[in-house]
Amino acid sequence: MIKGIFPVETFKKLQTPFYYYDVSLLKDTLSLIKTELKQYGYHLHYAIKANANPHILALIAKNGMGADCVSGGEIQAALDAGFDPAKIVFAGVGKADWEINLGLENDIASFNVESLVELQVIDALAKEAGKKAPISLRINPNVDAHTHAKITTGLQENKFGINYELLDDILDETKKLKNINLIGLHFHIGSQITDLAAFRDLCIRSNDLQDACEKRGIKLKNMNFGGGLGINYQHPNHLCIPEFENYFALFNKLVKQRSGQQIHFELGRSVVGQCGSLISKVLYVKKGITKQFAILDAGFTELLRPAFYDAFHLAENITSDEPPQKYDIVGPICESSDVFLRDFMLNEVRRNDLIAIRSAGAYGESMASQYNCRPLPKSYFSDELKDVKLY
Ligand SMILES: *Cc1c(COP(=O)(O)O)cnc(C)c1O
Repeated sequence: MIKGIFPVETFKKLQTPFYYYDVSLLKDTLSLIKTELKQYGYHLHYAIKANANPHILALIAKNGMGADCVSGGEIQAALDAGFDPAKIVFAGVGKADWEINLGLENDIASFNVESLVELQVIDALAKEAGKKAPISLRINPNVDAHTHAKITTGLQENKFGINYELLDDILDETKKLKNINLIGLHFHIGSQITDLAAFRDLCIRSNDLQDACEKRGIKLKNMNFGGGLGINYQHPNHLCIPEFENYFALFNKLVKQRSGQQIHFELGRSVVGQCGSLISKVLYVKKGITKQFAILDAGFTELLRPAFYDAFHLAENITSDEPPQKYDIVGPICESSDVFLRDFMLNEVRRNDLIAIRSAGAYGESMASQYNCRPLPKSYFSDELKDVKLY
């Protein structure tokens, strides 16, 4: 196995656990995305919930990208990090009044609306504010993303979006409301999608929906296809930049883009997933009868995905070159689900070894909690520690 290269000597001086971000990988990823967007004239709103670390947000904002927010707190984080409000979109099935008002005050680009009642509330609040709210309808296209059930969002039985069969009714309502301005359709079918066929189905369904809108004389300024492009958790060192070329080329080939229409995306995981690692220290190696456990000082409070979604994250012992042995790699939290990996081969583990848990840049730090009164993890960046290339 090829191991990632980390500034191990520096790590040894730092209090663990912490997140470590490879800034050069993030920069290279952003630069490839920018090239692809430019090629097709597409627009990207980075999904803040994947990682809202201010340093990372500032870097993405500086690259001219927009922000996809799912709460008022995220809108505020985006504004604080320097994102242009005219490039902020706001999704979510339950938007509180103060969150809607924050969006209105800042003249954000679009409220991505997920129900008729929400549409009516936004209309009323926009009226109070003396504004016309730009809205996109988030349509649930009933497309199977073939990903984990807990991160599938575009199926009929999910809570997200407006069922595509109800589009006609919603368009009738939209016409009646005076303080909203329908600017587009929005979709987001799920996350960690590795089979591009799901996006193909989305393109086809979106073409039909656009035709249906046009039949009613509605021209859509924007089409927003959400995020969801997956990353390779098995091989973070080989495939550290996702296949953005194929992803965007697919939309370019299949979406019937109308003249003057803008195409938008909301990628999160694929932008930041591979640049982050959770660095943790081994507290003890505990021998059982049939198993041995590497007990780390990080648990699901730092990285929830394995406990929450059964997600796989590759682990590496970055301080040992001893022959590998089999371990259950577990955290210190008082819950049986606090397990990172079972029966996983690591170079022989001793107390105080450092374990890197890879591909943790997305939905890692942003999902950290203080359960068991644990402090939130710190974060360090490769350019502030030492300019090492991780890949
Ligand atoms: C979470 C989310 C995204 C980003 O999804 P990724 O899988 O991280 O690319 C995009 N749009 C919406 C509406 C979301 O909720």
